Amino acid sequence: MKKKTVLITGSTSGIGLGIAKGFAAKGYQLVFNGLESNGASIAAEVAGEHGVDYMFSAANMLDPDALKKMVEEATAMFGGIDILINNAGIQHVAPIESFPDNKWYDIIGINLHAAYHLTKAVWPYMKERQFGRIINIASAHGLVASEFKSAYVAAKHGLVGFTKTAALEGAPFNITCNAICPGYVKTPLVEKQVADQALTHGIPESEVAAKVMLHKQAVKSFVPVEVLAEMALLLAVEGSGTITGTAIPLDGGWSAQ
Ligand code: NAD
Repeated sequence: MKKKTVLITGSTSGIGLGIAKGFAAKGYQLVFNGLESNGASIAAEVAGEHGVDYMFSAANMLDPDALKKMVEEATAMFGGIDILINNAGIQHVAPIESFPDNKWYDIIGINLHAAYHLTKAVWPYMKERQFGRIINIASAHGLVASEFKSAYVAAKHGLVGFTKTAALEGAPFNITCNAICPGYVKTPLVEKQVADQALTHGIPESEVAAKVMLHKQAVKSFVPVEVLAEMALLLAVEGSGTITGTAIPLDGGWSAQ
């Protein structure tokens, strides 16, 4: 059987990289993407370790033309994208009244608009092949809010809404679309928040993990990236065709409250 190809945005760091490793270990062909300066070598290393074909693109999520080009290049190389994982994301923590406008637009652009542009770009191929799996890495913040994260919460709620519509439109063509909604995962995105969280909450940085991040999770530990990879792998297989339009919390019980 032909190997399937998975495009994962933001896959040269954190959650995306963890998911890429999971797919590489199962023999999928990979399209890596991310803005890390050593992204190309990270991609080569992961693909090399598992002997899978791959390509790397540094397409910027804020540039719709670059996203289209990345999909065209991947289609030329692999014949199309079977699985799209919209994972790239950024965060900014600040009260609404002092939230920087440029951060608002970048967060919505990277976390939400890019998912729309990429879904649109891969759709014709998936439709023609009568197979597609689109997985959006949303967040517990796609289901519930926290203070000081207005743009992120808006983007992730939007992504969950987009997931449902894509699921309805994809159903006749065996294209599924689901959102994974993680709680806190220890990645560079989270580590970068510590100083701002301490400032906005008026607590020392050493107390941020317990008092802010894990405070709302019933399970007081960070979610392992391997668990997210396992969930993505499950949603990607042929047999998961009836799982669609869902927003699956992997959040240590946070959104159960
Ligand atoms: P990370 O900072 O480790 O990785 C983010 C990736 O996105 C990087 O590869 C980065 O280069 C890429 N990226 C950022 N801006 C980009 C742009 N303009 N164009 C192209 N690529 C860009 O972060 P992470 O924690 O692994 O986050 C991955 C996803 O998971 C994000 O969507 C985030 O919102 C979501 N998420 C993270 C957590 C968490 O606790 N870490 C929780 C819930 C959801």
